[in-house]
Amino acid sequence: ASGSDENDVVVIGGGPGGYVAAIKAAQLGLKTTCIEKRGALGGTCLNVGCIPSKVRVHSGANRFWKFIFLYALLHSSHMYHEAKHSFASHGVKLASVEVDLPAMMAQKDKAVGNLTKGIEGLFKKNKVNYVKGYGKFLSPSEVSVDTVEGGNTIVKGKNIIVATGSDVKGLPGITIDEERIVSSTGALALKEIPKKLVVIGAGYIGLEMGSVWGRLGSEVTVVEFAADIVPTMDGEVRKQFQRSLEKQKMKFMLKTKVVSVDTTGNGVKLTLEPAAGGEQTTLEADVVLVSAGRIPFTAGLQLDKIGVETDKAGRILVNDRFATNVPGVYAIGDVIPGPMLAHKAEEDGVACVEYIAGKEGHVDYDMVPGVVYTHPEVASVGKTEEQVKALGVDYRVGKFPFLANSRAKAIDDAEGLVKIIAEKETDKILGVHIMSPNAGELIHEAVLALQYGASSEDIARTCHAHPTMSEALKEAAMATYDKPIHI
Ligand code: FAD
Repeated sequence: ASGSDENDVVVIGGGPGGYVAAIKAAQLGLKTTCIEKRGALGGTCLNVGCIPSKVRVHSGANRFWKFIFLYALLHSSHMYHEAKHSFASHGVKLASVEVDLPAMMAQKDKAVGNLTKGIEGLFKKNKVNYVKGYGKFLSPSEVSVDTVEGGNTIVKGKNIIVATGSDVKGLPGITIDEERIVSSTGALALKEIPKKLVVIGAGYIGLEMGSVWGRLGSEVTVVEFAADIVPTMDGEVRKQFQRSLEKQKMKFMLKTKVVSVDTTGNGVKLTLEPAAGGEQTTLEADVVLVSAGRIPFTAGLQLDKIGVETDKAGRILVNDRFATNVPGVYAIGDVIPGPMLAHKAEEDGVACVEYIAGKEGHVDYDMVPGVVYTHPEVASVGKTEEQVKALGVDYRVGKFPFLANSRAKAIDDAEGLVKIIAEKETDKILGVHIMSPNAGELIHEAVLALQYGASSEDIARTCHAHPTMSEALKEAAMATYDKPIHI
């Protein structure tokens, strides 16, 4: 295969950043090899047996597809919740509704299995050479790969892209055993529904996981050191979002620190303390999910051997062309600074190889949408009101609640709002925040608007089909510079 033949591009890591970079490089006519330590892009490791508890490889082993796993579970658990709590009000009566957890997990695995096989197919179609093994730098143009079959091969490349992603950030004094104290990996493969689940960390992954298990019947308590959930979210939207999750019976303990966890008994006993210090309390759980953030993953890469610079957080430093300080070595995705999101990693990957191919690439991190896939979903792009205020820009806000949107009312799922922030003088849109069912789909109209430097009036004067949820965006845009019609 790759052996000693020199490649134009070698990509280390086959996650969304790496595999997209590899395909794009091949499409641009560059001879490309992708190295992935997991053994298969998806493949065999993705069925139930392989995940967490029994597999003691580092917990990032299956992270590549975790978000798809999670999305599948979010959808399945939502269906169950709807059947149990909402169908009757729509006139659909069921004699009984039960959760079949193994079937739910099997559906999730099937979905992921099909998707990952698809990528292997794309590699073949685009003639990307695929080396299965753990890569480490020997020099800026040579990667030694310990292959999954147990051998070793040297892969040479004129350009090498590091796309090794990120891993779960642990917490001091808390050992993740993937049984009772789990990371997102273990939380995606629990064998039974925990009666009490404690989530440490109120970021989007913790809330999504909490939603899955809460819908299936767990009592969920989220413990967060900071004063707010999802710190990157617009404050006003965040408040509504938290209220919505509380209505779904998720409990929050904010400004609270986990001092220790004790697993000597049957369940887990957590000792907590106010973040500012004070009296300790205890909390019991069957399962504790540690979801306190992610850290770049570069273990075993031997970056120091070739002198690649990283920052204090361990992220690889790159310039605006994704080049590191070492000529010919690039880095993209979760392993560099910027939003740790799959679609951002993909954009990095495309732009990076475009630069390598002598073309122009472009990624604007201010235009990367963020979505929390709970129900309702929360999606945003651009700046929050707090950020705009801090910049000292004069701005206007236009809002429209889904309670006044006919489609949302028709389906009796009208929680949430659209909030648009525009510059006062020019009406240029600075940020859009949506909380609603399918907000993750609705947001892209706003992403496009921001990308093209649109004003709120541009959206307001664009004809939107009726009855759709998207009309709420048009009305919020009207409210930004004028008045909405339906409220
Ligand atoms: P990764 O996906 O981490 O891929 C890196 C790959 O490199 C891995 O497959 C790893 O095995 C391989 N690798 C590492 N070191 C080596 C080596 N030395 N040699 C060979 N191979 C190596 N993002 C979203 O946009 N939307 C979501 O809904 C979402 N949900 C998430 C839910 C969960 C539970 C988690 C954990 C993450 C979620 N994310 C989501 C984040 C998303 O997964 C990451 O941003 C994305 O995977 C980053 O892509 P990447 O290619 O940079 O790295």
